[in-house]
Order: sequence, then structure tokens, then C-alpha cells
Amino acid sequence: MLSTMQDFPLTVTSIMRYATTVFGTVEVGTYTGDGVRRTTYAELGERAARLAGALRDLGIDADQRVATFMWNSNEHLEAYLAIPSMGAVMHTLNIRLFPEQLLYIAEHAEDQIVIVDATLVPLLAPLLPQMKTVKHVIVVGDADLGPLAESGKDLHSYEDLLAAAPAVYDWPEDIDERQAAAMCYTSGTTGNPKGVVYSHRTMYLHSLAVCTGNALGLSSADKVLPIVPMFHANAWGLPYAALMAGASLIMPGRFLQAEPITWMIENERVTLASAVPTIWNDLLRHVRANGADLSSLRVVPCGGSAVPESLMRGFDDLGVRIVQAWGMTETSPLATVAHAPHGASLEEGWRHRVTQGRLLCGLEARIAGDGDVILPSDGSAVGEVEIRGAWITGSYYLDEDPAKFHDGWLRTGDVGMISPSGYLTLTDRAKDVIKSGGEWISSVELENHLMAHPDVLEAAVVGVPDVRWDERPLACVVVRPGASVAVDDLRAFIAARVAKWQVPERWAFVAEVPKTSVGKFSKVTLRRQYAEGGLDVTHLL
Ligand code: ADP
Repeated sequence: MLSTMQDFPLTVTSIMRYATTVFGTVEVGTYTGDGVRRTTYAELGERAARLAGALRDLGIDADQRVATFMWNSNEHLEAYLAIPSMGAVMHTLNIRLFPEQLLYIAEHAEDQIVIVDATLVPLLAPLLPQMKTVKHVIVVGDADLGPLAESGKDLHSYEDLLAAAPAVYDWPEDIDERQAAAMCYTSGTTGNPKGVVYSHRTMYLHSLAVCTGNALGLSSADKVLPIVPMFHANAWGLPYAALMAGASLIMPGRFLQAEPITWMIENERVTLASAVPTIWNDLLRHVRANGADLSSLRVVPCGGSAVPESLMRGFDDLGVRIVQAWGMTETSPLATVAHAPHGASLEEGWRHRVTQGRLLCGLEARIAGDGDVILPSDGSAVGEVEIRGAWITGSYYLDEDPAKFHDGWLRTGDVGMISPSGYLTLTDRAKDVIKSGGEWISSVELENHLMAHPDVLEAAVVGVPDVRWDERPLACVVVRPGASVAVDDLRAFIAARVAKWQVPERWAFVAEVPKTSVGKFSKVTLRRQYAEGGLDVTHLL
């Protein structure tokens, strides 16, 4: 080895040390419903030390798992710092999973302690007696502990524990960067959720990547509002990236509706806010109806599901730039981000911006076709996207699933194409592609066109069985409040935009599109509703 460089481990501990000193005066706030509770990175560092001491006293040692059952808040950030930095493993429980799934993952991860927000105690209480590995519950805020008491677990107040613990902690210097730092389970629409375990190194490299200009270009000039939950793929890595960049944070707590979010953007002068398309859709409606000053926003990363072009253009009209990003729990999650390259005309720019984005440095992606044949990244060959790289999972936690990997690449389950310059365009998830008479129809493309119709609020398209073609698209449409539109008009609108054989014959107006635990269209539910005759379907000939 010719290198003379130091072998300095890339750890969450080092992110914490850096942020809580160099950026010690940077502010972090949590919205409370009628104001903001504020603290600084330096104070956060001290409280993280106290939390680590308290957890050690409660028996947390080595790489034991400490779970969080929390909204985005200062305290959740303290857990983000303390748990990995002491060498333990943070497990963010997705509060929106079904009870059986929550029980499954808490037991699978062998969570020892759960830190829970007072407002979420009623959700946790009925599950707690069955969480066999959990010994202690730490409650943040004032709550009626009665419902938890029956569980027989040891109950603690977060603030009491912190007050009793020393203000300094002897953070370990010898954490191996390949050691586990945190884990997160996929929401598992079929089968049990699967655990992804992030290492210190992958967290560090992912955070660095988030800060690069081709991703979100975070810096100490930013104020970040992570609307995407910290229990969902680490809030897209924003908390650690913000700490690394010295960016200020405003946490939304449980207030994820358009009105409080708008308040936070306006009053806190937020420069970057991240959320799934459904949240931005609500916000756009709210702002169009009530007006708002969104001028502080520099960039709005959006992803988790395909971002409709109409949504991006709607925000562009307000001077706000939505930037589409793609990733998954297995990819830490950020993998691609859609910026227009220098010199692109306005329309060329849009052609890049409507893709899922350009691959970040540190990752490689390819397209696999039938029989696992690797297809060219030529912008037209379509197949399953496979990915590998510095922050991509290589396996699932205690869950052999060789079918998800191909020669060391992760099979993403997403179908699309990659351009020669590394822009990824998804046409569907593998399980949502509509296979009509041997041809593939992209449900996402039909949805995008439908959502561009002025009277359509939301639209989901699913494949349903068809005697002649095997499968045909069913369009489920939510009409904008106060508007009305005929199926024939929608069909004509679509027919002007896609090949004739792709135009759906089956149409249903629905009050809302059912959503999954992480806010995506639940196509499984729609297909089931259709199969059970629960939808009022118009079948055009
Ligand atoms: P889950 O798989 O449990 O729904 P994830 O958050 O890990 O939770 O979801 C990752 C999936 O979300 C991706 O595989 C992809 O199908 C979808 N996705 C994420 N971002 C986008 C995007 N910009 N466009 C289309 N689909 C997206």
C-alpha cells in the first residue's frame, strides 16, 4: 500500500462532534402547534451525551437496538446522535405500519428500549405488552402513562433521565466505520417488512453526497424542513446532512398539514423542504386558495413516488423549484436527483427535470431485461433497474432473499431506462406495470397525463384482468373539489397524449386514492377493491 494518509473512520460520532462544536450556535427548532421550541446544535450535543449516559445506565451496550417511535423533533434528532455515536443501533419504527408489522419488526430487530413521543403513547400502548424484547420505555413529553403501565415494562420520563445523567459522555473513539449505526424496515406491501442496516460509513458517505451540488447542495446558508418522517428512510438523510453542512433545522412535529407547513416555511424562512408528492399537492391547493410567501424556498426535493409534471409546473409558477429525486430504503435512500444541466434551454431543462434524476457519484446503475440480460443505458431500452454502490444495501437483516440481488447488484423492483448521461426514467414498479397483449403500459405515464387535466386532483392507474388482453388499465380519478368532468372528456384528453391501445376503457371516480403507510398510492388496495366489486366502474367500448 503506497498511501500515507490517515485511516480516519467515517462515523456518525464524527458528524456529531463536528456539528455540535463548529456549528454549535446553529439553531434547531420544533413546531409545537402555536410556536417553535428552539435549541442549538451545541445544546443538542450535550443532551445527546446525557441520553447516551442514560441509555448506558439502562443496560444498552455494544450494538443493541434502541427504537424510536417519534415524529420529527429535537428529541428525535438527539436520539439520531446519541444512539449510533455510543456504538448502539437506532431502529426508527414507522408509526404508520400495521400493528402486526410493528410487532414483527420490533421483535425481529430485538429492540431493547423504545423512546416514544407522548402523543404516540395511545398508538404504542396496545402493542407494548407483546413487544417481548423491549424492557424499557422512555416517554418524551407529558403523557398519561396509565395505558403503558399494564405492559409491565419499566417506564421513564425522557427529561428526568436526561436531568439525572452527566452532561458529558465518553464517546467511543474506536467505532469501526463498517459497524451498524441504524436500521430501517421497508414498508413491505407484500410479505414481512425487511430490515436494512446502515453502517456509520454508509451514513457518512450518503450525507456527504446529499450535500453535493448535484444532489441538494446543503450548506450553512440553509434552513431545512424535513417533512418526510425521520422513521422513513432517515428522512431521506436530511438530518445528518444538515448537521454536516451546519444547516439550521425546523422540525414539523406531528403537524404535516398544508396550513402549518406553510406557516413554517413563511415564518422560519425555510430554504429547503422535502416531502412526497401528495403533501406538495395539498400545499399547492392551499397556497393557490389562500396565498403565501414561499420566496425563501431555494429547492424542494420531492420523491417517494413519481412526481407529476403538473405539480412541478404548478410550483414553478409560484417561483418554487421542485427537484425530483429517487431512491428507496435500501439505497439510504438518495440515489438520483433531477437537475437540468448547464446550458439546457427551458424545454430541454424540463426534459431532464421530469426524469427521476441523475445518478450520484458513488453509485452505479444498469438495466436488466428478460432473462437477466443487461441492456444498454441508451435512454430507450426498458427493464428492471439494478444498482450498486457506496450506500446501497448488500443484504437484508437476518432475512435471506437472494432473489433481490443479482451478481452483487440490488434489484430495485423499479422498471425504466437510463440515458447515456446517467438520467434515470422510471416507467413503473415491476409489480405495477400493466401487461396488455404482450406490450407494457406505464401506469405512471397515464397518471401523469391525467393529473395534468385541470379538473383532476389525483389519479391512479392499475392493471386489471382482461379476457382478451390479459390486463388492461383501470383509471381511478379524484376530481378537484367543486369541479366536474365526464369520462369521455378524460378519455379524449388521454387519447391525445398516448398511443391508442394504451387508452383505458375502464374508469372509476373515487373520493380519494388509498395510500400506503408512507403516503404512496396503494395500488394493491385499488386492485382488491376492483376485484371485490367495490368500485363504480364505467366501461367504455
Ligand atoms: P417502500 O418500498 O416500502 O414503498 P421506499 O421508500 O423504500 O418504501 O420506496 C422506494 C420506492 O419508491 C422505489 O423503489 C420506487 O418504486 C418509489 N419511488 C421513490 N422515488 C420515486 C420517484 N421519484 N419516482 C417514482 N418512484 C419513486
